[in-house]
Amino acid sequence: MASSKAHHATGWAAGIIAAAIVMHPVTAGSAPVLSGVLALLAGVAGATAPDWLEVAWWTRARRLWITHRTLTHWGIGWAALLALSYHFLGRHPAAPIAFGFACGGLMHLFADWPNPLGVPWIAARHSLNLWTSGHCDLIVVAAAWAAALFVVDDVWFHHVYGRMLLDALHI
Ligand SMILES: [Zn+2]
Repeated sequence: MASSKAHHATGWAAGIIAAAIVMHPVTAGSAPVLSGVLALLAGVAGATAPDWLEVAWWTRARRLWITHRTLTHWGIGWAALLALSYHFLGRHPAAPIAFGFACGGLMHLFADWPNPLGVPWIAARHSLNLWTSGHCDLIVVAAAWAAALFVVDDVWFHHVYGRMLLDALHI
């Protein structure tokens, strides 16, 4: 896995992405701020979930009850939760929590993806094979935060800041 520090650092980015989306007027329910906070915290929890979900924490030995990086790291499962919870945003009070959790879970898979063990997005594990665990955490974290800024800019500012950045870089 990417280091747990990297999962935490990307988890906050995932939480901010989730919060920005659930608080948007189109998807927000009657309590947008509460929804946003719940989505943020669920995102942070979700970003480490694929790893703690596979530990039998209710036993003393705390062995893995499932092979590392199999079902809990399944891309389709997390994507399905994301789609389902998005559908219920503004309609069911638990939707922002599920949505944040799914954003965090997917962020975890993205963080695990570059290292050799890979991630089972659909069936077999696939790896980008870029670096080994714990290396290049900075790239993973920076990419996650860049994605978070992009989403916040998109959802809330209609790319005002993105355009300013492109102008500044003369692109
Ligand atoms: Zn993992």
